[in-house]
Amino acid sequence: MRFMVVEDDARLARGIEGSLSARGFTVDIISTGEEAIEIATTEPYSAMVLDLGLPDLDGFEVLQILRRRGIKTPILILTARDSLEDRISGLDKGADDYLTKPFHPQELESRLRALVRRSQGSPDPVLKIGKLSFDRSSRTVYLEEAAVDLRRRELAVLEILMGRPGKVIAKERLSAEVFNFNDAVAPNALEVYVGRLRRKLMPHGPVIRTIRGLGYMIEAA
Ligand code: CA
Repeated sequence: MRFMVVEDDARLARGIEGSLSARGFTVDIISTGEEAIEIATTEPYSAMVLDLGLPDLDGFEVLQILRRRGIKTPILILTARDSLEDRISGLDKGADDYLTKPFHPQELESRLRALVRRSQGSPDPVLKIGKLSFDRSSRTVYLEEAAVDLRRRELAVLEILMGRPGKVIAKERLSAEVFNFNDAVAPNALEVYVGRLRRKLMPHGPVIRTIRGLGYMIEAA
């Protein structure tokens, strides 16, 4: 999952980025409303975190412009404004959730996961293929009864593949969801992560197929 965090408080932004990326999520930090609108229109995000007090536009304006343009990315408003009017206004203008500062990083993560599950129409937090299960709440993966030790990028790749079993996922799409703008990505980075995943899922786990020229697909062995 790749999240856009629109937040002009650099310290807070770094904190959010740190806690989410440690859990295997990809995060882009954006500090202005204009930039957020531009990037949200072109990049695939699983969800957005939107501050209201931004240096250029008000977060509500960003929200309205995105919704008017037909951008359906789930949006969570994260703000110090906690009046009932603001909360109602945010939800009415097309936000999907509202969290006030100060907040606990775990609550933010858990709300984001819930938003993404709802938007994908898959309420079950556990993804399963054959003997492999991926618990999206605890970020743990089990093959038969044994925990599989996965690094954060491996987790990210596996989560995307398991979210769409039996479907080919283009390499470009996978890269766009796994890496953020600041990642210096080697041309074969994705192949490396897929290769590691294949080894770790052997011999009883699902198979990750390479569909030449198209992308990758996961299916039960
Ligand atoms: Ca702010």
